[in-house]
Amino acid sequence: MPMRDRFPILQKKTYFNSCSQGALSIDVQQAYAQYLKDWDEKGSPWELWVERSETARQAFAGLINADANEVADCTSVSAGVSALASALDFSGARNKVVVSDFEFPTIAQIWHAQEARGARVVHVPAAGNVIPLERFADAIDERTKIVSITHVCFRNGSKLDVPAIVEMAHRKETPYKLAIVKAIPSFSGLWVYKDDHTEVRILGAIARVLPDLFTIESVEQAIMEEWNDPLKAISARKSYDRTTTRTVQPTEGNPEKPYEFTFPKWWEMREGVAIPSIPMGAGFGDPATGAVGGYRPDRNPTFKKFSTRTMRPVVDFDTCVKCTLCWLQCPDSCFDVTPDGFYDANMDACCGCGVCEAVCPVTNCITMVNESEFANNASQWEMWKKDKAVYKTWLQQKIAVVPERSHGFRFRGQYEEQVATLVAEGLAGAAGGGEEITEKIVSDAGEASAGGVE
Ligand code: SF4
Ligand code: SF4
Repeated sequence: MPMRDRFPILQKKTYFNSCSQGALSIDVQQAYAQYLKDWDEKGSPWELWVERSETARQAFAGLINADANEVADCTSVSAGVSALASALDFSGARNKVVVSDFEFPTIAQIWHAQEARGARVVHVPAAGNVIPLERFADAIDERTKIVSITHVCFRNGSKLDVPAIVEMAHRKETPYKLAIVKAIPSFSGLWVYKDDHTEVRILGAIARVLPDLFTIESVEQAIMEEWNDPLKAISARKSYDRTTTRTVQPTEGNPEKPYEFTFPKWWEMREGVAIPSIPMGAGFGDPATGAVGGYRPDRNPTFKKFSTRTMRPVVDFDTCVKCTLCWLQCPDSCFDVTPDGFYDANMDACCGCGVCEAVCPVTNCITMVNESEFANNASQWEMWKKDKAVYKTWLQQKIAVVPERSHGFRFRGQYEEQVATLVAEGLAGAAGGGEEITEKIVSDAGEASAGGVE
């Protein structure tokens, strides 16, 4: 059917009222009749209606060459803008709303209604039937909260250069202060627990950049009351002393988005979607004796944790006392119980956290070695069973160089020892030539910085 024939009113009238109420098509008539029919016959079929609404949203996105995520489904543009405006906070210094003189009246009125909440509305004036870009450049500044513009003017059809105005709005951000808190990277919380004083160091940094909020003395007092830990109080004070700030200008930085993820939408997921559990495992064969036994859990067939590993454990089965601690403590259930009762770290599952090394009670029975030393994920226990002398030589080569762990600690209590040493060195430095010690601590272990907006 020709497009015009789908709008019966066009047989009798020339229709100009498309802005407010478009001409009624037979498709809309039929959809509306269906909606009433569903309501009457099915009660309240919300899932069906939401699905229809999503279908319409996606179809419209395709029509304007947009992603469905960029399209909001509202009863009118005014309702959509009103919802957005009501969600903004205009109580601070950044309270300016820039609107053009080409807005549909309700849009500007919605923004003016926000003046009661602290908004300051500025109109970008037209020059005849156009609005020159320079006028937007003059209006948008560091106090601008939002720029609300129409693409096409409802009065004269004039089009605004939306990409250029968006770029202008994003470029003119307020300069901000970046707080730099120097510290040793600890990877705490990433596979391993270490009390690395992060929380008190952040409190010390806040006392430096926001002295009106609280003082370093009050932080020290609170730490002693809460934890009675002088080391934590010293860490907070050192962070306070070392924290620096610098002003970041709007022109600095990299405009590229570092990461972007597209998550599956709910309507794209299978009905009743569930993450399947990992199947049970079973016993397996001893390569030397052929005996079947032990227990090896099945692994996730698609997600391989070892891809994040920077170090891996090497096990000396000759000294293992089968205490089970590695098997119990491994956060990823990596250890296969072998038919002869040893514990073989499965390298398809090991993330390299190093907990097994730290908990093993036998000295040098488990040693974390840099991942770059290995070419595959072969079973160490199978290698040991096939030829123990060859395995011994291999193991000694692997653990000949035991570098500083990239994360975690090699034995229980090591971190407390390290912190005590570093704090003592830092204190000695503060008494004389403190910068040298600061430099040493920072450069010894790499430099980590955390940013904050002042
Ligand atoms: S085998 Fe050791 S290093 Fe690997 S995940 Fe388990 S505890 Fe961590
Ligand atoms: S923790 Fe050490 S001694 Fe204990 S079972 Fe594991 S490897 Fe053997």
